[in-house]
Amino acid sequence: MTTPRRTVLAAGVVGVATAALAGCSGDDAAGSRAKGPSGVSKPPPPLPDGLPDDLFTIGVASGDPLPDSVMLWTRLVADPLAPSGGLPAKPVPVTWEVATDEGFDAVVAAGSEVAEPRWGHSVHADATGLDPNTWYWYRFSVGATQSVPARTRTMPAFDATLDTLRMAVASCQEFNSGTYAAYGAMAEDDLDLVVFLGDYIYEHGGGLMEPKVPPRVTETLDDYRVQYAAYKRNPLLQRVHRQVPWVVTWDDHEVGNNYAGKVPQEPESTTGYANRRSAAYQAYWEHMPIRTGPPEADGSLQIYRSVRVGTLAEFFVLDGRQYRSDQVCGDRLAVPASACPERLEASQTMLGAEQEQWLADGLAANDTTWTVIAQQTVVFPLVLNDLVLNLDQWDGYVAARERMFDAIIDADRENVVVLSGDIHSGGASDLFAERNGTRVPVAHEFVSTSISSLSIIAELGPDVVQLVEQVAEDAVYVNAEDHGYCRVTITPEGWTTEFMTVANVSDDDAPATVDATVELTAGARKLVRR
Ligand code: FE
Ligand code: CA
Repeated sequence: MTTPRRTVLAAGVVGVATAALAGCSGDDAAGSRAKGPSGVSKPPPPLPDGLPDDLFTIGVASGDPLPDSVMLWTRLVADPLAPSGGLPAKPVPVTWEVATDEGFDAVVAAGSEVAEPRWGHSVHADATGLDPNTWYWYRFSVGATQSVPARTRTMPAFDATLDTLRMAVASCQEFNSGTYAAYGAMAEDDLDLVVFLGDYIYEHGGGLMEPKVPPRVTETLDDYRVQYAAYKRNPLLQRVHRQVPWVVTWDDHEVGNNYAGKVPQEPESTTGYANRRSAAYQAYWEHMPIRTGPPEADGSLQIYRSVRVGTLAEFFVLDGRQYRSDQVCGDRLAVPASACPERLEASQTMLGAEQEQWLADGLAANDTTWTVIAQQTVVFPLVLNDLVLNLDQWDGYVAARERMFDAIIDADRENVVVLSGDIHSGGASDLFAERNGTRVPVAHEFVSTSISSLSIIAELGPDVVQLVEQVAEDAVYVNAEDHGYCRVTITPEGWTTEFMTVANVSDDDAPATVDATVELTAGARKLVRR
């Protein structure tokens, strides 16, 4: 799927790794060593001369777990601040191993990939043939250089129950705004999964980051590669990636602030927006443990997908950026609703027609206890008196929101949970639709605050904070000031979200506490704050 040349040896045989390391790999029936046009297997490229010693400076990660496989990721980087990563522009053979123990005495899967300079020497290895609902250790090797061991897990079989799933939900980690204390706290949690809802990088530099990169707003592939590597140097972020698989989606800042589809917020000057977006999408793919890609020749990259956790939950992971229509009414903040009827237009789309249909079909077919819609921007109406706070969120795409609600209502799903980020504030609310003059409960939204990015609403002043808290009359929790993440426990009987907030984003080791606990009993129609 990712690189044409690969060997996958999924046999449960100790010594497989040694064989792979030695480049000794006969064609394996279960493997997928790709054949060239002639049908002949290609040998791995030789190890380039003069490779630096430390090739794993931006860490390793895993993601998009299935019952029998997990995506393993790394990008070979010796110098995070060099666009080349400090590597020669040559292909580099990389091997990987999966074991049931940290000492790698019991290797159960291993294989090799080729890290291509064309893809920034990134590696996406699909470790297949694993057991369901099982924890593993994995590591990468280049010649004699080994990555640190990291932990990951598979999901239960699609028809199997799971007693408990523990996950963290996070978004918005602007490095210039503060430390990653939230990840330090998250690393202490006993988790199965991290769900990340976007703004993994921001397109500008400066601030706390030393050395300050990028020197200008990111536009080129080189710029984005350096920006990801700069963010991924952070040891707290690396630590959480080493502990559990992540399921990621992007928001705007992985390209540029509040872009919509193919429309930038501000007119672009130098490289052109299409090129910029393609570069950003490629760099995103190069840095994420994602079961998709690489990008198409036209620069597009489909990332919307679903992840199933046995009969307990299915996550519909959405892309609310790539296919959306441009924001209406100049994308201004706090616009009078009466002055912006455009936000009601049926042509306004958040997901694009194809993704909307995919979601509706998926909801109709969904049969898990919990239905989770993991996406970027706030769904809850934030209309303050007559003022629409933010046209970039679903309030600017009202008809699209109604179509999503229709899909949920038509599918007759209960226990539908929407996860959102973007607004750098925490919140919890039931979601309702007006149908035939009746208020119909549709879903329940949890908004995760930022890991570190500035509290936008708090920046607008205490009056706006107070107004947001007032207008959110259906909300059971609003916190527009603090940073942190959501810690979630899902069982067949109930859903519990703990809103974790850190004391500050000045210290790496600032403690986190539970700011509020909000629960939903399966089958119930209302969130309850404990
Ligand atoms: Fe953000
Ligand atoms: Ca955002």
